[in-house]
Amino acid sequence: MNWLFPRAVAGVMLVLAGAAAGYVAGLALKSPLLLGLLGALASAAVLILLDTLRGHRLLHWLRGNQQGTAPRDAGLWGELGYRIERALRKREQQVAQEQTRLTQFLSAIEASPNGVMMLDPEDHIQWCNRVAAEHFGLDPQRDLQQRVTNLVRAPAFVAYLQGGGSKGSIQFLGARGDVMLSVTVREYGEGMKLVLSQDITERERADRMRRDFVANVSHEIRTPLTVLAGFIETLTNLPLTEVERKRVLSLMAQQTERMQTLVSDLLTLARLEGGPRPPTDVWCDAGQLMAQMEQDAHNLSRGRHRLSFRIEQPSRLAGVESEYFSALSNLVSNAIRYTPEGGSIEVVWRVRPDGSGEFVVKDTGIGIDKEHLPRLAERFYRVDGSRSRETGGTGLGLSIVKHVMQRHGGELDMRSEPGKGSEFRLIVPALRVSVGGAIGGGVKAPAAPAASA
Ligand code: ADP
Repeated sequence: MNWLFPRAVAGVMLVLAGAAAGYVAGLALKSPLLLGLLGALASAAVLILLDTLRGHRLLHWLRGNQQGTAPRDAGLWGELGYRIERALRKREQQVAQEQTRLTQFLSAIEASPNGVMMLDPEDHIQWCNRVAAEHFGLDPQRDLQQRVTNLVRAPAFVAYLQGGGSKGSIQFLGARGDVMLSVTVREYGEGMKLVLSQDITERERADRMRRDFVANVSHEIRTPLTVLAGFIETLTNLPLTEVERKRVLSLMAQQTERMQTLVSDLLTLARLEGGPRPPTDVWCDAGQLMAQMEQDAHNLSRGRHRLSFRIEQPSRLAGVESEYFSALSNLVSNAIRYTPEGGSIEVVWRVRPDGSGEFVVKDTGIGIDKEHLPRLAERFYRVDGSRSRETGGTGLGLSIVKHVMQRHGGELDMRSEPGKGSEFRLIVPALRVSVGGAIGGGVKAPAAPAASA
């Protein structure tokens, strides 16, 4: 407002000066009042013209792209130009900030592991991230503004979208047919829709595995329980001779043992899954493992097989001794159970050229068809269910072995030929093998083997 008073005074002074000049000139022409009035009018006209020029300059700047500064006039027009320019710059700054925020927001959604797609009220695609494009088989640029139902034709999706996503979420196969999607639609703004998609293939697989596992466990437990219930009924209702009673009790003991083995294997699996990673600085002796194994194998085979146990290089292994033993014991017990009488079983420990080590369990048993090998370590997978059960198998042995080896960073290798025999290898990584005090590639191991966990 500091321009208001000087401007008013200057305006009045200029008009008065014009009037005075006109008046003085009018004295000579004998018409001072008329010329005085004309002088005042001429001054006012000059003022108006000046204002018009300044206003025009400002308007010209405003009509353009407002680059550079606004016309810097003095007084009213100067202040007007300055204030308009300042307001404009402030707005531009705000817009730039909003733009940055929007870009950051969109990049955050872009980085989301889930698919996000925005639709207008007519279901035209406004924006979608890369994951949504992959899930629905879209091109994030080319397909913008396209009606989504023209591009994603899965009937479940189309019906769900038309229903406004009212029933929670739906599941259907993604565009490439290899992923299972869970899709949720939420309305926002004025009829806009947010489509969220999630790849639930892995979750579905885990759920299915869990369901199968529970069904398998229930089945495995129900069979001996049914047998036991039958025997209890027999014992209760029938007058049995002493010989019959003993026979029934022995069969009952067999079934109970079967359940105990199953529960024990299940607990072992649960422990392996939840347990901490095996230590790399606790050592056990491969020779001791083999000696203990040899004794158990003789007890199990009871002279029906030729058994051979051999250590090629005395070594120590880092990890959990009981787990190594459990893995080896499962392989040896399988070899005995699936090798007919008179067959031979050979168990060897050796260190391989790359510093890793292996227990090799080789038998001349019934062998396994190639097609079964990839699934053999799955829980409850059996090639011949009745043979496995007859010999006290639970179908969990090899999955325990596989778990143990994976936990120790090693692997389980299987080769077999039907009718000829099988060869199973427990491969222990170099880091966990110590020969004569040197670990795998030659790193020194602790001097004394510590007791196993
Ligand atoms: P099981 O308790 O049934 O033996 P495993 O997980 O140990 O369960 O083995 C899975 C299946 O692999 C067995 O049912 C059997 O059919 C097959 N198998 C395992 N080891 C051998 C072997 N040495 N010779 C032949 N078949 C074997």
